[in-house]
Amino acid sequence: MIQFGTLISDSKNTEKNLPSEVKEHVHVLILGSGPAGFTAAIYAARANMKPILYQGLQAGGQLTTTTEVDNFPGYPDGVTGPEMMEQLQRQAERFGTEVRWGMATSVDFSGPKHKVWIDEEYLIEADAVIIATGATARYLGLESEEKFKGSGVSACATCDGFFYRGQDVVVVGGGDTAAEEATYLAGICRKVYIVVRKNYLRASKAMQDRVARTANIEVLYEHVTKEITGSQTVEGVTLINSKGEEVKIAVTGFFVAIGHHPNSEIFRPYLDMDETGYIKTIPGTSKTNFPGVFACGDVQDSSYRQAITAAGSGCMAALDAERFLG
Ligand code: NDP
Repeated sequence: MIQFGTLISDSKNTEKNLPSEVKEHVHVLILGSGPAGFTAAIYAARANMKPILYQGLQAGGQLTTTTEVDNFPGYPDGVTGPEMMEQLQRQAERFGTEVRWGMATSVDFSGPKHKVWIDEEYLIEADAVIIATGATARYLGLESEEKFKGSGVSACATCDGFFYRGQDVVVVGGGDTAAEEATYLAGICRKVYIVVRKNYLRASKAMQDRVARTANIEVLYEHVTKEITGSQTVEGVTLINSKGEEVKIAVTGFFVAIGHHPNSEIFRPYLDMDETGYIKTIPGTSKTNFPGVFACGDVQDSSYRQAITAAGSGCMAALDAERFLG
């Protein structure tokens, strides 16, 4: 029987009545199943810390939405995102990580043991918690965008740009990410259109200058995307300009760069974060402001966001947890 009794306030200051009976005590609890979570698990398991890893909503993390991964060292012929995540999971399990379905939905870090509720009903107490819950790319929300995800629509130029060598592509967004992705793509593609809904770029002056200096980038101000078109893969995009007119351009790639949001909401009452919700760690470590709580991967990294950097920080989190637990 579920015992209810623990009242905790979440970030929206609503009170939740959660079960208070601790179902399990674990040494090291890892939340998230991307490269950061699995790397933390490999290290923690090999150090005999018997980690339990909860996969979260998107088992395998963001990489499972990518096709080829060509930039992860050690795969000279490339690897698909899902295949790489499967291998990372097998490697973590080989050393004794227990991988479970389920998602952390509430936490209470106020006591000596860290409490984590899985799916709001299963309460675990952990000596150390490694947060590797990642970030989620924002998309425009168009039906056609959904249709072409993985076959022309991407939210990561460094992951997928290579496939558009010599072709024409669109980048949507006016911030630093859009500017950075567009300049990266400009080195690979024939022509890059940046589609910006306002009449200015929000990106930093330095990034704006880089965009302006790049001959094969054209910025389309005050344009919004109506639809991405094509049969099997992307063949074009229909935009609407400030006069309400349709503008059609032929492109084979559509890169969405309108921001990410870190999956950190449930930790907000306890952990220090920047204004966009990225968990702050002590520089050069994975330590958060709560002893025994560590963060790695994209949930604490708004800058690099690569599988290899996430994996590296997952390793740091396991080593920091090992040192903390003595
Ligand atoms: P931002 O939130 O800064 O920018 C998002 C952009 O997407 C804005 O131009 C916004 O338009 C646009 N946008 C949002 N929703 C839509 C929509 N539905 N349709 C069309 N356009 C939309 O996100 P970024 O990812 O660019 O940057 C996040 C943070 O990371 C920033 O602080 C940035 O400075 C930092 N960063 C730094 C880098 C660096 O220093 N090298 C590299 C990348 C990011 P609008 O302006 O109209 O709101």
